[in-house]
Amino acid sequence: MPEALIIGGGVAGPATALFLHRAGWDVRLFESRGEPEAYGGLFLNVASNGLAVLEALGLRDRLVADGHLSPYLEMWSGRGRKLGTVPNGPAGAPERGSVVVRRAWLHQVLRDAVEAAGIPITWNARLDGIEESPGRVTARFADGSSASGDVLIGCDGIGSVTRRWIDPGAPEPAYTGILSVGGFARVPGLQPTPLRQHMVFGDRGFFGYLVRDGGTVYWFANPSRPEGDRSALRDVPASAWLDELRAAHSGDPDPVPRILDHVEGEIGAYGIFDLAHVPRWHRGRVVAVGDAVHATSPNAGQGASLALEDAATLAGCLRREADPGTAFAEYERLRRPRVEAVVAYARKLGRQKQGGSSRFATAVRDVMLPIFLRNATRDTRNNHLYAYRVPE
Ligand SMILES: Cc1cc2nc3c(=O)[nH]c(=O)nc-3n(C[C@H](O)[C@H](O)[C@H](O)COP(=O)(O)OP(=O)(O)OC[C@H]3O[C@@H](n4cnc5c(N)ncnc54)[C@H](O)[C@@H]3O)c2cc1C
Repeated sequence: MPEALIIGGGVAGPATALFLHRAGWDVRLFESRGEPEAYGGLFLNVASNGLAVLEALGLRDRLVADGHLSPYLEMWSGRGRKLGTVPNGPAGAPERGSVVVRRAWLHQVLRDAVEAAGIPITWNARLDGIEESPGRVTARFADGSSASGDVLIGCDGIGSVTRRWIDPGAPEPAYTGILSVGGFARVPGLQPTPLRQHMVFGDRGFFGYLVRDGGTVYWFANPSRPEGDRSALRDVPASAWLDELRAAHSGDPDPVPRILDHVEGEIGAYGIFDLAHVPRWHRGRVVAVGDAVHATSPNAGQGASLALEDAATLAGCLRREADPGTAFAEYERLRRPRVEAVVAYARKLGRQKQGGSSRFATAVRDVMLPIFLRNATRDTRNNHLYAYRVPE
């Protein structure tokens, strides 16, 4: 039975493990975090195409059971004018729309499935070196342990060690100039937003929210900020974020200021990076998957879904082709055009979010967007994003 070492227990890692296990591989999963920490984070949009991959794994219904169905995005100006409604899924098929879930829930659904399949997970296993010998590859971990297999699949995210081993000259992620700061709230009297997320192009920044049936608000803001280091972001207390965000969004339409007055629990703050073009995706018996080779900014809500598609595609290639190098080349051929197009699209959306940097730009955007979005709910031009299906 061929053996795969999978590095990273985020989204791509568990999904790749499940698909390969199903294809008859002996799979082991290694994650650098300690077990409880793996459940951190806020929430994310799992798009229709990602849900289709989860469906193939038999996990869609469980994930959706604790999600906010969100086939529509409603866009608002900073003056409270509705700019339009955009489908968050294939146009005209709201039943196949995307869903917003807590990140911890997505991780749990995937992890439970990995455990149920009997795939071993090693926590606190930080990859810090890779060695190849004829017919084998060895992962070396920071604690001195190691593991060997026929292939090593790097699902180790945007800071990937695997990407750098494949090509020491590989590009580093590019900072987009914005942060994502968000959390949860409960606002007395605020009604649920079934089937919708609301997106507000505020005068001094972008703000998104949804209200679940039980009343919990999921919210995020995208302040512009020069690049800083990650630990500095983590050290900012919640009260300081709230002071800053309340000042920036005080003029936004209701309920934005009310949401910021009723925040509960943790506030997460992340610099937004992307990775548009990585020249080499594989080397010998080693290949990289998901954010490790093509991180997209969250503006299109597609990063996790692309990682899921990668997982299904790579497993299919390894099932069809015994030689790893040939399978990896085929995986890259199938995936590169799509993922690079989505990263570029998400960058474009990000520039629109930042477009309100002057009064003139804001006024132009508020006039132009309703024209562009007039027929958006029937516009099928983005269907290629959502209706994509991994080739069998
Ligand atoms: C603020 C924010 C909001 C986002 N919102 C969305 C959204 O709404 N929709 C969406 O689809 N995407 C969103 N994304 C992007 C999405 O999170 C990623 O695209 C997705 O998680 C990629 O999955 P992955 O498995 O490739 O990487 P990750 O989920 O990052 O998983 C990588 C895993 O590898 C582990 N790891 C790292 N290095 C090592 C190592 N050396 N050894 C062992 N393990 C290691 C990490 O601990 C991690 O568990 C968002 C991202 C951010 C930052």
